[in-house]
Amino acid sequence: MKIVNHRLVKDDGTPYPFRDTPNRGLKGNKNAPVKHRWLVMHYTAGGSASESIDWLANPEAGASAHIVIGKDGRITQMVPFNIRSWHAGESEWKGVKFLNGHSIGIELDGFGFLGNAGPGKWKFKGQSIPDSEVVVATHKFGKPKGGWPRYPQKQLDVALELAALLVKTYGLEDVIGHDDISPGRKQDPGPAFDMAGFRAAAMAGGAAPVVTPTPPPADGTAPATARFRVKTTLNVRSGPGASNPTVAGSPLAAGTFVRAGREQDGWRQVTTEGGVSGWASAQFLEPAPAALFTVSTSLNIRGGPSAGDAPVPGSPLPAGTIVEGLQDQGDWKRVAVQGAANGRSGIVGWVAARFLQPSVIPVSGIGQPAET
Ligand SMILES: [Zn+2]
Repeated sequence: MKIVNHRLVKDDGTPYPFRDTPNRGLKGNKNAPVKHRWLVMHYTAGGSASESIDWLANPEAGASAHIVIGKDGRITQMVPFNIRSWHAGESEWKGVKFLNGHSIGIELDGFGFLGNAGPGKWKFKGQSIPDSEVVVATHKFGKPKGGWPRYPQKQLDVALELAALLVKTYGLEDVIGHDDISPGRKQDPGPAFDMAGFRAAAMAGGAAPVVTPTPPPADGTAPATARFRVKTTLNVRSGPGASNPTVAGSPLAAGTFVRAGREQDGWRQVTTEGGVSGWASAQFLEPAPAALFTVSTSLNIRGGPSAGDAPVPGSPLPAGTIVEGLQDQGDWKRVAVQGAANGRSGIVGWVAARFLQPSVIPVSGIGQPAET
């Protein structure tokens, strides 16, 4: 995506859908310009993107946004980026009040705060929402506490790409939430949105130095690697520099484990257990603690964290197999088998954690930064 004449267009020049709204500018001047200082993130608290877009195009709403992003990642622009949209309302940040005049607004299609219905009972206007799509959390300002819908990865991917583009194009100072600028009055984008991680990634994507891209090795193999953890939502790019396009699977969620290899100009080559491979800004990687275990009995390794999930190829693991812990969920641990088991390498899956014992066998490279 790119910005041409304050409109968002695809790389081939095709414009994204544009839906006009009267809720823009100032009274008497619908083209009143916006000063480009901040990007403000919102959720719509609506049933669908099309419903919210219809509402924001209605004069009765008295509200709009520059952009609405659907749960499927579809983008609709409603106000050109050089004109005020009515997304912030009564608000204050860094001594500036009423931020419509100083910010670009992105609305993420989402139901918003779901109250305290509880597991199995989450609903939005009568429509049931599975527990797996709800985060139970307390808002960072102390209330409310309850259920918040998760943002689909596709929606977050698109939002981050756009945020980084806006930061870069307009030299924005920061990326903030509606709740940050209207505390108490607004809760969006809420605890299901990793505001700190998104902000860091968007600012890094826009501000990192541009360097000559170097492609990864032609054979696709990663060099000898060390294990790191991603500190924030993090873009993975095809080369070492923010000018390179992001790869499929980018950005990585905060807490993702990666193998990091070669370093160049502050960027490192990374690979995830899930097969996402590319370059990431090294400042957002931290050495991960070694978490090796020995399997104490012949043990099924499954595709999910329950005995009802099917075993993965290579299961069962023989007693004595060394595995690396990747993630915990209840009594289950997602693990990566070290080396081969049953003649198969690269086995990753879920095992019952009670059959694992902490391993004392040192494995070279694990937990050690590769450049030392
Ligand atoms: Zn808002």
